[in-house]
Amino acid sequence: MSNEFSDWLAAFKAKALRQGISANTLDMAFADLQPNTEIIAHDRHQPEHSQHIWDYLDRAVSRERITQAQKALSKNSDLLQQIENQFGVTREIVVAIWGLETAYGVQRGSYPIIEALATLAFDARRRSLFEGHLVSALMIIQAGDITLRQMTGSWAGAAGHTQFMPTSIIKYAVDFDGDGKRNIWADDPTDALASTANYLARNGWKIARPWGFEVTLPHGFDYTLTGTQTKKSVQFWAKLGVGRSDGHALPADTLASVLLPSGARGPALMIFENFQVLATYNASNAYVIAVGHLADRIMGGSEFVAAWPRAEAAMTHAERSEFQERLSAAGFDPRGIDGIFGPNTYAALQSFQTSQGLVADGYPTHEILVRLRR
Ligand code: CA
Repeated sequence: MSNEFSDWLAAFKAKALRQGISANTLDMAFADLQPNTEIIAHDRHQPEHSQHIWDYLDRAVSRERITQAQKALSKNSDLLQQIENQFGVTREIVVAIWGLETAYGVQRGSYPIIEALATLAFDARRRSLFEGHLVSALMIIQAGDITLRQMTGSWAGAAGHTQFMPTSIIKYAVDFDGDGKRNIWADDPTDALASTANYLARNGWKIARPWGFEVTLPHGFDYTLTGTQTKKSVQFWAKLGVGRSDGHALPADTLASVLLPSGARGPALMIFENFQVLATYNASNAYVIAVGHLADRIMGGSEFVAAWPRAEAAMTHAERSEFQERLSAAGFDPRGIDGIFGPNTYAALQSFQTSQGLVADGYPTHEILVRLRR
């Protein structure tokens, strides 16, 4: 064992003891444990090109995945009914998360969780985050929910049918089959699916409310109103002429945002509180849209009406950083040059687009990069 690793481990063990992990549990969990270089390589890997949302959705909401979801729904219909009754979470949403996370339990991951978390905590880039997960994982073993050997998952430490991180297991996992253990690892998905519903319920899921749906925007629409930061009443949007693409009426008395996942040239979505609840599970808009859309498709909903701008080339990480640098140099501060397009880059780009008389949809394209270079 390297000195660095044994130094970190000794310090970590002292912290874990103070948080109620026994010396026995620590000795058992860390016997012969070494950092796993494969996990560090995974963690440091940065894909060169960012992925377009349509490529992600093609895979996430494939015909195959919809068919499998319908099978999973009918196979587990009694269980999903009980879960829906108890937690008030739409069964198709639970099934959609199950499908996206592990292909309905098929890809639950076989990395030893303690080894994965210890490696990531030792690697130090996000030490306190992973030390927190590691303490939680040790608490779960100590509580007897699962044995050390059976505690497996993804290289990033997510476990079970719906890939819970250990702090979420502590907070949200439930024993739904009544055997006294919160076992999200079992082949039987009972505890895992109930835990997922509990997670969403505790984060505010409201049954019979939409997560979002596709809308059409009127000619001359003010695109500076788009984005998750702007929440307006449904009446406000209706007055502007925003309507559902499927022709159904808008829901009454609720706040909503208008989201353009691929700018003004792709589908527009109206999103609601349940969208933000799904974002607590995974903050990526693409993930949330995939879960919501898969659930809709399971229920027989249609594909998005508007086409994605598939001809648009993906930007490299270097181009994304350059994009932010040039925005900043032009006087529109994206608050940080990291190659990641978040709400601040979105707002800066909208201001730049407005100043240039362009459609202010906050969507970065090569065309705008070329303009910024001039
Ligand atoms: Ca159980």
